[in-house]
Amino acid sequence: MAVTAVTTVAVVGAGIAGLAAAWGLEQAGVAVTVLESERRPGGVIVTERRDGFLVEGGPDGFLAAAPDLPALARELGVGDRLVDQLARGATVWTGSRFEALAEGRAAALLGIEARGEDLGAGFRSFDGGMAVIVEALVARLGRATRTAAGVTGIGPSARGYRLALTGGSAVDADGVILALPAFAAARLLATLGVSPARALGEVVYQPSVAVSLAYRGDQLGRPLEGTGFVAAATAPGVVRACTYASAKYSGRAPAGHVLLRAFIAPSDDEPGVLAHAELASLLGIAGAPLWTRAFRWPRGLPRYEAHHAARVARVRERLARLAPIAIAGAGCDGAGVSACVRSGREAAREVVRRLG
Ligand SMILES: Cc1cc2nc3c(=O)[nH]c(=O)nc-3n(C[C@H](O)[C@H](O)[C@H](O)COP(=O)(O)OP(=O)(O)OC[C@H]3O[C@@H](n4cnc5c(N)ncnc54)[C@H](O)[C@@H]3O)c2cc1C
Repeated sequence: MAVTAVTTVAVVGAGIAGLAAAWGLEQAGVAVTVLESERRPGGVIVTERRDGFLVEGGPDGFLAAAPDLPALARELGVGDRLVDQLARGATVWTGSRFEALAEGRAAALLGIEARGEDLGAGFRSFDGGMAVIVEALVARLGRATRTAAGVTGIGPSARGYRLALTGGSAVDADGVILALPAFAAARLLATLGVSPARALGEVVYQPSVAVSLAYRGDQLGRPLEGTGFVAAATAPGVVRACTYASAKYSGRAPAGHVLLRAFIAPSDDEPGVLAHAELASLLGIAGAPLWTRAFRWPRGLPRYEAHHAARVARVRERLARLAPIAIAGAGCDGAGVSACVRSGREAAREVVRRLG
């Protein structure tokens, strides 16, 4: 097997947790290589531009009450690109009418875990969408990020670890941070013989489809109120929630246009057609959308079970007996973007401390 690189710490996964971990390592003066299986860094953070619209495939913001993203953005020189929510408040679709929801309840109903007062403070984002923070991290990490470099196995080496990559090459490292979805971390830790990590493979990830729909403003029968709606569990239909993206943050649609984003359960039917049919009737929309764009997340947000924290703690206890290695990300310490940044940076501190 050809060993193509010798580095100090290998971060596996270039989602926000892995990139934040790598940035923490760089700041501590540790050489780092980020290994990402996809061709694009960012993980579930994906922002696209189309015809003057700005479309989010994954998260569209982060908890305004959490300091982690703003602090990171300032360190990276993009603090001036943070934006606040334009609109506040959301409604619930009961199946027959829209009713006002208390501030923060919509996020809670969607499974975003945070204290009530933190949810009440709303969300923030970036002027160019959530990709701004990913692009800033990748730019500052320079050549450290390797895409299309999936890790297929980890074994001990004289130095620390040897990571096998797709295509047959390998990377040696003194330390490793796994910033992967829980099921992927479980698979890699199994190759290292860490048996408690099997429990990570049991973390349930919920499938969802996020469909963005673009309209002319004059197609909407009435003004949009608040940031969107959540459908009550008892309400019929496929749309479980809808964000009024262009009302929530500035710059999401060109003047005189509207961008909506619906969350629907996976189905074999065309998501844009399904979502438009329902939104047209709920929001009084005339005519077809200008276009739609669907992002499918077969394993999107993790939903923790009651004993999740104890399981993760057991894996960490076992990892503490090995050469420096840490786990981070949505599968471990909270699914929100801010929690992932915190988790990645904490993993970096832990590995730096153990490298001595
Ligand atoms: C549709 C959607 C909407 C959301 N909305 C919000 C929101 O509004 N606000 C909020 O705070 N949070 C939101 N979240 C949650 C949040 O975005 C995610 O939990 C968080 O971004 C996950 O980051 P991560 O780095 O832990 O994982 P990921 O982003 O999943 O990154 C993991 C990376 O590891 C890579 N990888 C996997 N296996 C390997 C391997 N073997 N070798 C190398 N690389 C590998 C993957 O390709 C991926 O790039 C949303 C999530 C989804 C899916």
